Amino acid sequence: MVSFSKLVDGQRGTKLLLDTDGHLYSRRADRETLVTSYWRCQKYRSQKCSAAVTLLKEYLTLITNQKPHSHLPGTLVAEKLEFRQSLKRKASDQHLSATQNLLTEALSGCSSDLNVELPKLESLARVVQRSRAVSSGSANHSEASLAAEFVLPPTCTTTLREENFVLFDGVTEEGSRIIVFSTKQNLEVLEQNPNWIADGTFYVCPRIFQQSYSIHAVIDGKCIPLSLQKRINKSFKVRYRTDKAFARASRLVAFLAFVPLASIEDAFEALSVHIAGTFPELLAVVNYFENSYLGQATPEGQRTSPKFPVQFWNHYSTIMVDPDYPRTSNLVEGFHRGFKTRVNRARPTVQEYFRAIREQQVTTDFHLDRLAVGLTPSKKRRTSNWDLFAICTGFEDHSSTLEYLFAIAEFFGHTLTA
Ligand SMILES: [Zn+2]
Repeated sequence: MVSFSKLVDGQRGTKLLLDTDGHLYSRRADRETLVTSYWRCQKYRSQKCSAAVTLLKEYLTLITNQKPHSHLPGTLVAEKLEFRQSLKRKASDQHLSATQNLLTEALSGCSSDLNVELPKLESLARVVQRSRAVSSGSANHSEASLAAEFVLPPTCTTTLREENFVLFDGVTEEGSRIIVFSTKQNLEVLEQNPNWIADGTFYVCPRIFQQSYSIHAVIDGKCIPLSLQKRINKSFKVRYRTDKAFARASRLVAFLAFVPLASIEDAFEALSVHIAGTFPELLAVVNYFENSYLGQATPEGQRTSPKFPVQFWNHYSTIMVDPDYPRTSNLVEGFHRGFKTRVNRARPTVQEYFRAIREQQVTTDFHLDRLAVGLTPSKKRRTSNWDLFAICTGFEDHSSTLEYLFAIAEFFGHTLTA
C-alpha cells in the first residue's frame, strides 16, 4: 500500500509528489479539483510508465490508478532533489564564487550514501552554471555560433554596480565584431597614467571570438580597465592550444622585444627562416609584424619607417638598465592566470566569459576607489624580471639568435616538453 510522503521542489518552481516507495510524480494541472489533484509518474515518458495517483488534498491520502510502475523507484530521491535545490540557491546567491568552490561547499554536507547517488561532478557543475545563467538573465541567450551573431545579454552591459560597461559594440570594416568593455572611471585612470600595458591572449577567450585583449594602466603594478575582442580564425586557435611548437612559433615575433637593437635584423631573419621551414602558415603573422614594427623592406635594402618604431617596443636596453622596470608580461600574465581561475576553463562559453569580465571589474573598482583617496595597491612582490635579466645578459652566449629567442619563449612559458 503506497502512501504520500511529501511534496518536493522540482524544476522551475514546480512541486513534485514523492510517495513512500521513492517514486516521483508530477502534477497535471488540467485534472485539478477543489479536493483532489492528479499526479502521474515522472517517468511516464522516459519509461512509458502509466502509474498515476490522485491526492486527496485534505487528508494527504493517495489513491493509485492500479497501474504498476514499469521501473524501480529511486533511492534518496528527496535528498538528491534537496541537494540540487541548495546547489541552485547557492549558485544564484553567491554568483561571484567559482563553480568549484560552490560544489565543495555543497558537497561537504553530503552523506556517503548520497555521494554515491549524485550525478557526476561535471553534471553538478552544469547545474551551477545553468542556474547562474538564469539568475544573471543570460540564460535565454543561447550560444551563438559566430561572433557576429552574438547578442550581448542585457546584464553584461552594466557593471555589478550598475554603471555603463560597454564602450563600443560593433563591426570593423573587415567585418570583425569588436566589443569593448570599460567604465568611465577606468578611462579616466588610463588618461591619468601614461604607462599602459596592452596584451592580447589566446589563453582565455570564448570559442567564437578570436582574441581577448586587455589594456592595463601601470599604477605600482595593477589595473585592468579595458577588454576587447575580435573575431576568429578557429583552426589557429585550436592548434595554439594543442601544438606547443606551433604556439611558440606564433609568438616568436613578440620576443624580438628582448633582442638587442643591433641584432634585431639578424634575429628577424633567423625567425623568418625558422617559421618558413616549420609553420609557413604563420608567415602572414611574420609579414604583418615586419610591416608594422620593423618597416617594409625596399628594393635598395632599406626599410620604410614602421607604424611602431623599434625604440617604442624593444625592451632590451630598459631591462639591462633596470631589471625591475614594470615590463608587460609579468603583470599581465598574472592577470590572465587569475582570470582563468575566474572562468574555470580556457574555453568558456560567451556567458561565462562576460560574467568573469564583470566580476573582474569588481576588483578593478575596488582598486580604483582606493586609489582615488590615495591608497596604493600593495607593494609589488619581487618579480621574476631578474631571471629575464639573466637571459638577456647572456645574449652573446647562445649558439644562435634563434636559440636565444627560444630561451626567452621558455621564460614566458613556452616549453615544448610537458
Ligand atoms: Zn513510474
